[in-house]
Amino acid sequence: MTGFSPQPTEMGDQRAEALRAGLSDVRERVARACDAAGRDPAEVTVIVVTKFFPASDVRRLAALGVRDMGENRDQEASAKFADVKADTAGLRLHFIGQIQTNKAASVASYADVVHTVDRLKLVTALDRGAAAADRRLRVLVQVDLDPARPAATLGAVATAAASAGPARGGADPADVGGLVAAVQASAALDLLGVMAVAPLGVDPGPAFGRLADVSRAVRAVVPDATWISAGMSGDLEVAIRHGATHLRVGTAILGSRPTLR
Ligand SMILES: *Cc1c(COP(=O)(O)O)cnc(C)c1O
Repeated sequence: MTGFSPQPTEMGDQRAEALRAGLSDVRERVARACDAAGRDPAEVTVIVVTKFFPASDVRRLAALGVRDMGENRDQEASAKFADVKADTAGLRLHFIGQIQTNKAASVASYADVVHTVDRLKLVTALDRGAAAADRRLRVLVQVDLDPARPAATLGAVATAAASAGPARGGADPADVGGLVAAVQASAALDLLGVMAVAPLGVDPGPAFGRLADVSRAVRAVVPDATWISAGMSGDLEVAIRHGATHLRVGTAILGSRPTLR
């Protein structure tokens, strides 16, 4: 029996097959949605969101040709990607979660793109962190598309009520111009565009339409800031219809996330 039994790697890796099937389904959905929208699928990048899933899945995805991966927590992302990034050429780590100011320097030291810049303090902290790590950092301004967001003029009571809700993050559209100017004035940050998560429980179409409007206004100031990061497993077709250039897809490729980590 020596020499003839197949090695484990030749026996097929069911997880790799599942990931391959998930990727293929999502690419098919993207192709169909682009077709319906009269867009070229080459304009749309799928970022595979690997949060909650182990480094072994990141390696499998890399072996399947995926180069853009997304994570939302500093500790998890830095631990998971340290090895994989070192031995996978061209891997890009997209940070898509809310960033506490005291975690900004850490994120700036390893992320390739930060999608969630939503306040001036964070611009300053990321800029400082990137400079300290002697690297440039590409960023997007996250926009809050929630139609229920209370106007700033409603004051402290409304603000307190809003902050009790789920922390999806994002800047008020009225504050995006100031954030863009701050990124432009920074030493180490480059602006790629805008990002948003559709509000829960409402039709994502109008929300993504508002994001397209914000993107247009940003591009009038920074023509190279062409990225629109929008669309997840459940709403990627709608996002494509409204001009998304980067989708952030987890569940549809990796399956349901474990509830604990
Ligand atoms: C988790 C996450 C995603 C992926 O969501 P799925 O529904 O699993 O595709 C996308 N964007 C952000 C900001 C996320 O946190």
